[in-house]
Amino acid sequence: MTDQTTYSGGCHCGAVRYSVKLALSTVIECNCSLCRRRGWLLAFAPAADFTLERGAEALIEYQFNKKRVQHLFCRVCGVQSFGRGDGPDGKATVAINARCLDGVDTSKLTVKQVDGASL
Ligand SMILES: [Zn+2]
Repeated sequence: MTDQTTYSGGCHCGAVRYSVKLALSTVIECNCSLCRRRGWLLAFAPAADFTLERGAEALIEYQFNKKRVQHLFCRVCGVQSFGRGDGPDGKATVAINARCLDGVDTSKLTVKQVDGASL
C-alpha cells in the first residue's frame, strides 16, 4: 500500500467541496465516450474515505450506458469533480477527478490508460 494523504477538492465555482483520502501516485485516463470528452484523470476511493463538505444541493446527476455510476456535476459551473458508483468488489466507491484536487500537479502523476470504450 502506498501512503494515503487527505486531499481537498471540488468544482470550479466552489459550491461543491469535499475531502478524500487517496494514495495518489497513479491515475486512470479512460477512453469511454464520457471520459474522453471530459478529459478527466480518475482516482478511486472507498466511499467511507470521502466526505462531501458542501454542495449536495448543487449537484446534478447524469447517467448513461449501464447507469452504474452517478456522474455528479455542479449546476453552477458544470464541473464534475467526482462521481459515485460500485467498485468491482461491489463496495460503494467514489471516483475522484484528480484535476479537481487542490495543489495536485497532475503532470507529476503516472497515468494509466484504461480501455473503457470496450467495456
Ligand atoms: Zn461549481
